[in-house]
Amino acid sequence: MSGAPQRVVIIGAGQAGGQAAYSLRLGGYEGAITIVGDEPAPPYQRPPLSKAYFKGEMEAERLFLKPLDYYAEHKVELITGKPATRIDTARKQVVLADGTQLDWDKLIIATGSRPRKLPIPGADLEGVTELRTLADVDRLKRLAAPGAKMVVIGAGYIGLEAAAVGRQLGLTVTVLEAMPQVLSRVAGPEIGAFYTRVHREAGTDIRLGVKLEAFEGLGRVSGVRLAGGEVVAADFVLAGIGVLPNLELAQEAGIACANGIIVDEHMRTSHPDVFAAGDVAWRPLVHYGREGRLESVHNAIEGGKIAAAAILGAGQPPLEAPWFWSDQFDLKLQTAGLWTGADLTVVRGDANGRAFAVFYLKEGRLIAVDAVNSAPEFIVGKKLVAAQARVAPGELVDKSISMKDIGARALG
Ligand code: FAD
Repeated sequence: MSGAPQRVVIIGAGQAGGQAAYSLRLGGYEGAITIVGDEPAPPYQRPPLSKAYFKGEMEAERLFLKPLDYYAEHKVELITGKPATRIDTARKQVVLADGTQLDWDKLIIATGSRPRKLPIPGADLEGVTELRTLADVDRLKRLAAPGAKMVVIGAGYIGLEAAAVGRQLGLTVTVLEAMPQVLSRVAGPEIGAFYTRVHREAGTDIRLGVKLEAFEGLGRVSGVRLAGGEVVAADFVLAGIGVLPNLELAQEAGIACANGIIVDEHMRTSHPDVFAAGDVAWRPLVHYGREGRLESVHNAIEGGKIAAAAILGAGQPPLEAPWFWSDQFDLKLQTAGLWTGADLTVVRGDANGRAFAVFYLKEGRLIAVDAVNSAPEFIVGKKLVAAQARVAPGELVDKSISMKDIGARALG
């Protein structure tokens, strides 16, 4: 390849960073690739951390995106356990915490995000944990002895998945949520009501609309004090109240940021030779005509592929509608699209059963679907969402019309 860069450095050895490296090699790039990660592990997938791995049903090595010998075989230098501390765009260097300087022609920032801290007293007590990394789950697993009292703060996907595993491990589980509905940031009220019921039936104490005052305990957490004075007893606490993008390195280097590192459709930042991908990227959401930050495996993989294609000068990989999944108990929730802004919600199937789908429409077009144990609804729904197709609500609710037929009619 003439004019190809000689050195690509990737900051962040995670889903997006790993993918960018693999896609560069797959695309025929022959120059140097260095991935720098602050965690000790090679790039790994996080979804099982709150599911099979927490439950003890998966070995750590199975989380790795590639076997360890991939990196030597494909000449991808992997530096782990060393944070990058500075990006020098004038000299085109990345500086690591131990002073190492890495030169780059193209740089990919894939630093992901970190859990938000709870701004209440006692948040630094022992036993108050979060769930982002392998090390976090290994700590959680040691705390999750049968019978232990686990308090989960935040009923988002990660909190609810961990709560489900907690019950399956025989823990006493309480979920404290500030909003009047679980999953309120990511799904509509039908899905929220369904999961509240499922968790309650499994024996979890779900408290909605709760305001926290402090963590109590001497050195180690023993309870969570709520507004009004009630104390919920806890042997340990898992805080899952959302994440913040790790954008400071970019910001300090003068790269434009919003609530994420601003990139164009090629994942290119305000610096022409610097790209960003994954949780940290504030990217065009082409299906919705706006920009935003997504937190999903699909977004990280897609972003890594797009950045690699841009560096290779190759064509843009096809864009799918954003998608995500969550496993809780025997339920697989698959979601495509972004539901905010919907003006009509249509339920297909029985929300009281354990297989149904919620379709979200805006001005007659399908903008998102949440499918519980309903693969056809998800698979066809994802295509319809990507096309922002017009779909008749009457057809969506009618189970006698197959999703295949609905898809064929709407997509022509
Ligand atoms: P990450 O995979 O987090 O990688 C970023 C890496 O960069 C991290 O290792 C970080 O420590 C490192 N880093 C940060 N700063 C520096 C620095 N200065 N120097 C060096 N390294 C640095 N998504 C789904 O689609 N489905 C799911 O079911 C699902 N479940 C999840 C469950 C859990 C418990 C978690 C935490 C996430 C889950 N996600 C899920 C979200 C998904 O895993 C993330 O969106 C995805 O990992 C983002 O990829 P990324 O490469 O942007 O960030």
